[in-house]
Amino acid sequence: MTIFQKYLEQHNYENFDIKAVLFDMDGVLYDSMKYHARSWHETMTEYGYESTPEEFYLHEGRTGGNTINILTERCFGRKATEEEIKEIYKRKTELFTKYNEGDTIPFAYDMLKAVQACGLKCVLVTGSGQASLLGKLEQNFPGVFTKDVMVTAFDVKKGKPDPEPYLMGLERAGGLKPNQAVVVENAPMGAQAANAAGIFTFAINTGPMDPKVLSDAGANIVLPSMEALYKNWGEYCKDLAIR
Ligand code: CA
Repeated sequence: MTIFQKYLEQHNYENFDIKAVLFDMDGVLYDSMKYHARSWHETMTEYGYESTPEEFYLHEGRTGGNTINILTERCFGRKATEEEIKEIYKRKTELFTKYNEGDTIPFAYDMLKAVQACGLKCVLVTGSGQASLLGKLEQNFPGVFTKDVMVTAFDVKKGKPDPEPYLMGLERAGGLKPNQAVVVENAPMGAQAANAAGIFTFAINTGPMDPKVLSDAGANIVLPSMEALYKNWGEYCKDLAIR
């Protein structure tokens, strides 16, 4: 049994009926995680928290507020106040905007265009609320994402790893069922969210993580890069019954 047949069996579907591909943003479209990790680490150090830049790869996909809460619990044994969350996230955003060079992931635009060429919709599903990247999408990936097919930090309450953002993505793509879309993620929390939403998930490991972390989180297929996904897309289209 292939990994695709296994998915169908596990989720009680007869077949795939793919209409859309849901793309995460940081680490999938933009090579921005290194700047996020650096900004988080520096911000938290300024505010007296102990952390490492690497751990922010594991928090990736959570909302800023959730990440701050988790660290506050760990370092100070309490929840963060609304004011702390606001202030810390503001500082993190400031540093991220300063450091971020806006580099896109190699082969991301090729992949988006390949998806569109199959007649499928590209939907953005991100936990990010970073205006510096969200505002550049049209410039970097012209003609791909429109506002009605975007789910961002401004739309969701819970954020990844909760399935909420991906369920909202299915809704925005036209009220699709989980077997009518696939997800492209790079983070364990994101793969967990997509898996909880019942959607077949490709993870591209663009960060410094052990790929096992991504398969353990629920990714159906783990690849080393967007290039690998792009180059194998034709094969996957057959497995996913995309014409
Ligand atoms: Ca990501």
